[in-house]
Amino acid sequence: MKCTFCNEKAVYNVKYNGTALCREHFINFFEKRVKREIRNQTDLKRDKITISVAISGGKDSLVTLYVLNKILSDRRNLKIKAFTVDEGISGYRPSGIEKAARLCKSLGIDHEIISFKREFGYTLDEIMSIDNTRISCSHCGPMRRSLMNKISMYNKADYLALGINLDDYAQSILMNVVRGDISRYIRLAPHTGIERDGLIPRIIPLRKIPEKEVVIYAILNNIDYDNSWCPYYRDAYRNEARMIINMLEEKTPGTRQAIVKFFDGTRDILKNSYESKDMKRCMICGSPSQNDVCEVCSDLKEINERVLKKSI
Ligand code: SF4
Repeated sequence: MKCTFCNEKAVYNVKYNGTALCREHFINFFEKRVKREIRNQTDLKRDKITISVAISGGKDSLVTLYVLNKILSDRRNLKIKAFTVDEGISGYRPSGIEKAARLCKSLGIDHEIISFKREFGYTLDEIMSIDNTRISCSHCGPMRRSLMNKISMYNKADYLALGINLDDYAQSILMNVVRGDISRYIRLAPHTGIERDGLIPRIIPLRKIPEKEVVIYAILNNIDYDNSWCPYYRDAYRNEARMIINMLEEKTPGTRQAIVKFFDGTRDILKNSYESKDMKRCMICGSPSQNDVCEVCSDLKEINERVLKKSI
């Protein structure tokens, strides 16, 4: 099949807009949407800008880093830094860290590693062996978010970039709708216009790019990513949202884009009419929190109590 725009061989068929694209036109199509998102989600006119990029070593985060660097690296006022959160999941995270470090080295980007063990005293594997009454993601998610914010604050970042593709983003929106969680719905990234004290605004440059296109972009640009899955992933409630959206997308191509369009249209209306709780500071660690003690500190308190009980 030929590219819709030139005589080259097509590498990808875009079902939702009916075009076939060669390597060059696919990369242009991909980067055009990322550039638009960067423009919409950030203000890069300031004197000095630092973007902190969270990279796990998977395709989405490594492509985010690569494409941000490609689009923004010639700006003198802008610095990109990368970091990886090591949750301490044996047999999984080490390979991601290796790939993340290799890409950073090849692009000349600073890369730091921040670990659960050093910051909280436990790896995620240890936490799961102490408390298996809850699913792993309910421990891991808040802890990761807390460390991502902490390292970005430490690096005086203006934005924290996350590698989230269209599929993941549409799932997050649907999950909040199904839970009826308006407060979380409003707080979903990108955080344009809802910056809060102590929280670095999160940006998600790939939120309009389907997962499949992220994979193709990575392959076409020789980005070596870790494609293993977290061994705890089977616990994730997200699996159900993924199945439903894939089924709808199969029947009606463009469903994922429509979900995001609906989100963009409704969030601003909800933001103006919904009174969210003011952010406080956690009494223990000082992190921004909706309650007197943040989710991470109350989780750690419970884990420490369980350890104490076991040792008596
Ligand atoms: Fe953590 Fe769950 Fe993601 Fe695994 S799937 S890294 S446990 S949030």
